[in-house]
Amino acid sequence: MTETINCPFCDPLERVIKSNHTAQVLLSDPRKVPGHILVMPKRHVLAPWDLTQQELQDIFELIFFVEKKIIGKLGDGCDIRQNYRPFMKQNALKIDHVHFHVIPRSYQDYIYSVAEKYETDLFAELDDLERDEVTKLLAD
Ligand SMILES: [Zn+2]
Repeated sequence: MTETINCPFCDPLERVIKSNHTAQVLLSDPRKVPGHILVMPKRHVLAPWDLTQQELQDIFELIFFVEKKIIGKLGDGCDIRQNYRPFMKQNALKIDHVHFHVIPRSYQDYIYSVAEKYETDLFAELDDLERDEVTKLLAD
């Protein structure tokens, strides 16, 4: 749980552009679009549910701060995204230290044009069986 070997987010040095008590903001490098920002705990945490209440509060304080700063400047809106993919080994594009992506977005922007416009086919009607199965899963 506290494995910190080769973690670029545990020792970010000059990459930190803003921080508070338990969380920090870095520019994503590599990044998808200009202004692609990462918000994370200072502590090495692998799973988002292992964040403390203080870390969650500090992380979302910084996420919303960043969002308000970039909307209208780097995009007309914003995506907040957290990927939990323990089935993948850490690499340059996948860092195990939990982090949230804050990505400026605009209507039919670069991300849409190269990727998301192909994702619309993924949407399917929710059927009753699936609704019942997932609802039952979350009920316990
Ligand atoms: Zn780390």
